[in-house]
Amino acid sequence: MDAGFAMKKTTLWTDCTLATMQDNGVPYGMIENGNIVLQGSKIMWVGAAKDMPAQYLRDATDFRSAGGRLVTPGLIDCHTHLVYAGDRAKEFEMRLQGASYEDIAKAGGGIVSTVKATRQASADELLEQTQLRLRQLISEGVTTIEVKSGYGLDLETERKCLTVARRLTHDHAVTVRTTFLGAHAVPPELAGDSDGYIDEVIHMLTVLHGEGLVDAVDAFCERIGFSIAQTQRVFEAAKALKLPVKLHAEQLSDSGGAALAAQFGALSCDHLEWLSEAGVKAMAQAGTVAVLLPGAYYFLRETKLPPIDLLRQHGVPIAIATDCNPGSSPCTSLLLMLNMACTFFKLTPEEAFAGVTRNAAKALDLHDRGILAAGMRADIAIWDARTPAQLCYAIGANPLYQSIQNGQTQ
Ligand SMILES: [Zn+2]
Repeated sequence: MDAGFAMKKTTLWTDCTLATMQDNGVPYGMIENGNIVLQGSKIMWVGAAKDMPAQYLRDATDFRSAGGRLVTPGLIDCHTHLVYAGDRAKEFEMRLQGASYEDIAKAGGGIVSTVKATRQASADELLEQTQLRLRQLISEGVTTIEVKSGYGLDLETERKCLTVARRLTHDHAVTVRTTFLGAHAVPPELAGDSDGYIDEVIHMLTVLHGEGLVDAVDAFCERIGFSIAQTQRVFEAAKALKLPVKLHAEQLSDSGGAALAAQFGALSCDHLEWLSEAGVKAMAQAGTVAVLLPGAYYFLRETKLPPIDLLRQHGVPIAIATDCNPGSSPCTSLLLMLNMACTFFKLTPEEAFAGVTRNAAKALDLHDRGILAAGMRADIAIWDARTPAQLCYAIGANPLYQSIQNGQTQ
């Protein structure tokens, strides 16, 4: 046997109920009585046991049975603000005790309180707090996450947050994609000068990109965030650096952000409750993914639903994410988001599940994961379930049996 080959462990998993999530016309790309062959960090073969070439039986050095369990791609959370310090539980409590937004602002609440706590925390403290949230995501079969900056709003703290995001991969079996969201809010020291802050955002982006900390660029385009013209300036800067863009768009009003993002070939537009048909068409043409965030919809008690039927009609891929953040979605359960995407947004379980696998990979421009197929990365979740619909249906359950990240059993 070839020595180089012998060094790579080949694992044959048998008796799998495979939800490959391949877009092949079969619901969930389902294969009953399936096998999956992993070699090193890659999937070598996947299919019905009866079709498996004999060579894989010969090559296998490690034999495992899934016992008929559901085997899916590892889950992908494609929109999180995971790195922040402190929480806003006090504010939550005050609101429920009858305090007004003004009272809360006076007591130092809101995003400013998170910015303050994040600036004050050391990198190690920030890492520790973030790891708690990350562990919860990973415990539910998540193998890839996106992490946005945006609670620093100055160069030093934005750098600290992105560095912490990169460090998450040192101790945890997870892929992290970083997104620079300097244009999240105007920092308190520049209140009233949002144009001046955008100059600073562009400066920070250039520096942090130079340090290898940025995989994509995002902005909060909204009447309480940044205008279309300001967003466009950030996107022009991203384009000059050849960085892909994403956008928090049409969450609270229809400001035309999605159409602007589509002009820049955005990977995704996220939230989208107020998205117009023109915005849907622009996204469809650009191949932009619609990332829906049911956690924020729920926590803010929104009532306006994203235009799901239009997204379907125009073939816009839909992804689902936690939007984990202290202000509007303190959520670390992607499984709960699957349920809420079905109950609130009336996605079918198949659409919702594609939203945390195949389409979430697309939203992060990752072409080596999100489906089970030969040549893909061996990021796999094995569940005490028989169908993905069971994962969407249950509320507060975690039937993860085992997760495999980059070929390593966790
Ligand atoms: Zn967000």
